[in-house]
Amino acid sequence: MPTKKLSSSKLSANQSPAKRVAKVKDGVPLSVVIRRRIQAQKARFHANDNIAQFIEPGELEGLVDEVAEKMQSVLESLVIDTESDHNTKNTSQRVAKMFVKEVFNGRYVEQPALTKFPNVSHLNELMIIGPITVRSACSHHLCPIMGRVWIGVLPSKESALIGLSKYSRLTEWVMCRPQIQEEAVVHLADMLEKKIRPIGVAIVMDADHFCMQWRGVKDRDSKMVNSVMRGAFLKDANLRREFLALMDRR
Ligand SMILES: [Zn+2]
Repeated sequence: MPTKKLSSSKLSANQSPAKRVAKVKDGVPLSVVIRRRIQAQKARFHANDNIAQFIEPGELEGLVDEVAEKMQSVLESLVIDTESDHNTKNTSQRVAKMFVKEVFNGRYVEQPALTKFPNVSHLNELMIIGPITVRSACSHHLCPIMGRVWIGVLPSKESALIGLSKYSRLTEWVMCRPQIQEEAVVHLADMLEKKIRPIGVAIVMDADHFCMQWRGVKDRDSKMVNSVMRGAFLKDANLRREFLALMDRR
């Protein structure tokens, strides 16, 4: 009888083979395979870094399966009877999917495509976008951060303009990662400066931190407000005042 080489990738019965990549590749966990690709390029993979370029099609599904398996061990270590407790039976799978496909998705998917328009009418008036609702999580406890962001842009005559909805999509992409608020606003400002090349960019973020409310000091009313001012917003106090007055933080 001819020996048949068994593929190490065993697909779950209910998944189509084309879509799902197994969580183990040649005996190596998928997360390790991805990590090696990143290290080979000497790239960073901190919690708030995007690693989409190192992930091949279908691998995200495999990553969900790997996280689910580990999450199941966490539940077991928490001494939760996931077999007879019907509420927690599929919790590991649900949490894994939530992390990879929803709340931390900004790490794993490519930056949303941006349509840029040349600034044909040479607009150089202050634009304010917001409040944009954001959800994020602190990288210390993975506790939710729920907040709002306002973006001020002073385009130059040469700036490329992007559609209004793209500001929300870019913000969401940056925020859907575990991080700290101070770094998140700086990251967003860097990205907008690079994309739009404006005379100035201003960002204000105002958020509730659940690691202050749900745990720790249990201070329900504490909020954190951060701002980043770049270019003209830094140099021109009038422009800064105009932005802060118009953004209407209620
Ligand atoms: Zn925290």
